Amino acid sequence: MERVYTSSDPVLAGLVLSVLESAGIRCLLRNQYLAGALGELPVNECWPQVWVVDEADAPRAARLIEAALPREVAAGEPWTCPTCAERLEAQFAQCWRCGALR
Ligand SMILES: [Zn+2]
Repeated sequence: MERVYTSSDPVLAGLVLSVLESAGIRCLLRNQYLAGALGELPVNECWPQVWVVDEADAPRAARLIEAALPREVAAGEPWTCPTCAERLEAQFAQCWRCGALR
């Protein structure tokens, strides 16, 4: 058993689970119903977690997860303004030059 994915968002965890299942990787979801119920634990220990049953599948699972998730989840990448082509850092949601939204 190896944990391959943790998210505060149960929808994303469910997406990851279905991607892995459709690739034939045996996996399961933990903490699906526990979010917020265990005040004594660090919050990210209560988040939905996706585990692969066979640890040998973990590297393949990681690649599938990376390919499947929406781009904005992989935060930290600079972006280019579609209007004026200004290069912007990931933390800006709006172009400082022309005001276009990301
Ligand atoms: Zn711009």
